[in-house]
Amino acid sequence: MKIFREEIDDFLPQKILDFHVHVFPEEIMPPDHEGWSAGGHRIRSYTLDELRQDLADLYPGRECRAVCFGTPHEELDSIANNEYVAEKCDHKRFFPLRLIRPEDDPDAVRKDVLGKKFLGFKPYRNYVRKADPEEVEVFDMLPDELMAIADELGLIVMLHIPRKQRLADPKNQGQVVALAERFPHATIVLAHIGRAYYLKNIVGHLGDLAPLPNVYFDIAMLNHWEVLEYLFANVESHKILYGTDLPIGIAPGKSVEINNQYTYVTPAPWELSISDDHDKLVFTAFTYEELRAIRKAVERLGLSKQFVEDVFFHNGMRLIEQVDARIGGGD
Ligand SMILES: [Zn+2]
Repeated sequence: MKIFREEIDDFLPQKILDFHVHVFPEEIMPPDHEGWSAGGHRIRSYTLDELRQDLADLYPGRECRAVCFGTPHEELDSIANNEYVAEKCDHKRFFPLRLIRPEDDPDAVRKDVLGKKFLGFKPYRNYVRKADPEEVEVFDMLPDELMAIADELGLIVMLHIPRKQRLADPKNQGQVVALAERFPHATIVLAHIGRAYYLKNIVGHLGDLAPLPNVYFDIAMLNHWEVLEYLFANVESHKILYGTDLPIGIAPGKSVEINNQYTYVTPAPWELSISDDHDKLVFTAFTYEELRAIRKAVERLGLSKQFVEDVFFHNGMRLIEQVDARIGGGD
């Protein structure tokens, strides 16, 4: 709270929409499963009640909403996770996306979206089940039959871009452009700015994507102010969405760039991080590091209060309201 009071409180708008949150009940875990590692902390569930509490703790005095989807791991029960998310999200504070697997039956997906009022899709590369996950392509994750539903109903597609070169990968870029153009009524959100967590991955790589009216960028887990500054300077502001990747966002740690790569540094050992086994540092949550970085980028570019309020709330709410009007989700 000291950090919040000293560095965040006078910057943070009154209304916050977190566009990138995973919620899942324990029932989706096989009994012998070791749990999901959120920044090195094994958890077997992250319920909507826990999310509600975390939002209140992270952002005291703010009005918070969130776009929620399940945790997309191949071995977990995505059907039960989707049902949980649809049931718990009220379309007032919490808004559901549906985990989709490429082999899902399109008619069943369409029925499910309309019946349970999902605002869109959350595909994931692990659902493609290639021997080498780095070989998965955007087209593998998003078959045409499913994209056609997103197009017809104007849905949101939350895309965690595959491949080693991430945002900078020419194949990724070409396939995202192709999907955005062929399915113009779908909105593709590039999660974590296409996973460009280090500067070299974004500089020079927004040229083909920025002009697309239906490609948006969420900034979840971006702790790097230079990357954010580059995004804010090169993309129309209404396509930028605040997000955190809770429950990972609340774990202590920071993502850092080293020699044109990135890693996380965390107090607890985590397969994605270098961990502080010497106990040298006192950490805060990834989300507070993200807020610091957003603030620094905003201030360096001299961006307005309106820009900040739009990124934290209005840009995402506009998308949600458009979809809800089409699928009757707000009723
Ligand atoms: Zn995520």
